[in-house]
Amino acid sequence: MILPIILYKNKILRKKNKNIRLKKNLNKIIKNMFETMYYYKGIGLSAPQIGKNINLFIISINNKKMIFINSKIIKYSKKKIISNEGCLSIPNFYANIKRNKLIKVEYYDNKWEKHNKIFKNNLSIIYQHEYDHIKGKLIIDYLN
Ligand SMILES: [Zn+2]
Repeated sequence: MILPIILYKNKILRKKNKNIRLKKNLNKIIKNMFETMYYYKGIGLSAPQIGKNINLFIISINNKKMIFINSKIIKYSKKKIISNEGCLSIPNFYANIKRNKLIKVEYYDNKWEKHNKIFKNNLSIIYQHEYDHIKGKLIIDYLN
C-alpha cells in the first residue's frame, strides 16, 4: 500500500521516535514503506515520514533492501564529506550537507537480529539522513 508522505511543516516529523518493543511484527509496515519509497523514487524512508513515531527506517541502494530498527550511531569519523541531498518530505529541494564519512552503528534487522557495523560513503550518508529523521531533524536545519 502506498502511503502519503508527511511534509516538512508537519509536527509529526519533529516528535520523539520511540524504540520498538523487541520481536514486534513489523512486516506489514515495512512492506508498505518499501512500496511507498519506490513509488516516490526515494532511496531511504523513515517511519515518521509515514506518520509513525517509531525508530525504524529503510534504505535501498544497488537494489539491496536494508531495514534498520532501533538504530543508534555509536561513533562518527572526524573526516567529513559533502553530500547533495533531497528529502521526500521536502519536495523539489536539495542542499549540500556536511556528513561524517564513516559511522559505527548498531541496529536490528527485520528478523530481530542485532548488528554492529561500520558504514562509509554513500550508505553512511543515507543512514545519517534517515537517522536524523529519527531524531526529529531535517536537512533544512543545516542551513543558516
Ligand atoms: Zn528525508
